[in-house]
Amino acid sequence: MKLFVFLSVISGFLLAEPEVKMSLAAPDTRFVVDGNTVEANSAGIILNGKQTGLFVVQIKGDWLDFDSKKFRNAIDVKQDAGKLKLIHALPMESYITGVISSELPSSWPLEVLKAQAIAARTYAIWQMYKKEHLESTVMDQVYHGAQREHKLAKQAVLETAGQVLTYESKPAHAYFHAACGGHTASSDEVFGSNEPYLQGVACSYCRGAPTYKWSYELARSELDKKLGAKIKNLESFGETDSGRVKNFRFKSQPQLGDMKATDFRKILGYNNFRSTLVTQHSLGAHQAEFAGRGHGHGVGMCQWGALGMAKLGKTAEQILSHYYPGTEIRKFY
Ligand SMILES: [Zn+2]
Repeated sequence: MKLFVFLSVISGFLLAEPEVKMSLAAPDTRFVVDGNTVEANSAGIILNGKQTGLFVVQIKGDWLDFDSKKFRNAIDVKQDAGKLKLIHALPMESYITGVISSELPSSWPLEVLKAQAIAARTYAIWQMYKKEHLESTVMDQVYHGAQREHKLAKQAVLETAGQVLTYESKPAHAYFHAACGGHTASSDEVFGSNEPYLQGVACSYCRGAPTYKWSYELARSELDKKLGAKIKNLESFGETDSGRVKNFRFKSQPQLGDMKATDFRKILGYNNFRSTLVTQHSLGAHQAEFAGRGHGHGVGMCQWGALGMAKLGKTAEQILSHYYPGTEIRKFY
């Protein structure tokens, strides 16, 4: 598969729809998959209390339960260095249907879902080139299982089947996020990779996002606990080209070094501290308060912005060329 995808990356086409292999959980010594208990020991895998002598076991079924989600056909259990890995393989188009059903509601316009289908397919092809298994979480793309698939997602996937976003004939790094808050970020300022089509663009379309403006308040004691120091003062310094905060500096006991805003956000929690487009911060007697705009890393397509554009009558192609300027859509298979 890796060679197959590599060829697609350099040649710009695939002969057939690729298969996606997705990791369903962090490696562990025991799992329950569709009512079956699987455990690891030095001789391989124990299935429902019986030693199988095997290092790979396949659990089959039409509609498999794992972690309150449903998966079709089969889940592979692999023993590796004393721990079990759960792998689910599925055709790319089914995977994309699940991803966009997890990412976007069925009430959104078809053109947004089509743009998201192309971006998600492109992102997956790029990730498959780099590693064998994709994560089913925000680490790669969120996949909540086959039971979440909705009709509009299926239609969007069907209407864009095999379409990939390319730059100079190669799959683009099609990052996306919930809402940019007014201007998308460059890939350079967030990931340190300078892509011509990810330089950051103005976006006036995501003002309707619930996180266009956000605030986060926590107790000073909680802030101290998260940072592992008694914070007496904090200030932001440095600004990226898209207006995001670069760093935070503290007066604290013990003294903390300067911290990247992206690391600070990770420590405070991605769903609390929603972006590094921080507009305000203050330390009160008991509370710490932060406010900002947008949700997510800010690179590539802004999902709420795509919604705004679709409401103005823009097509999936127009949405993609706004957020990834200079790219073109190609049919890979
Ligand atoms: Zn936006």
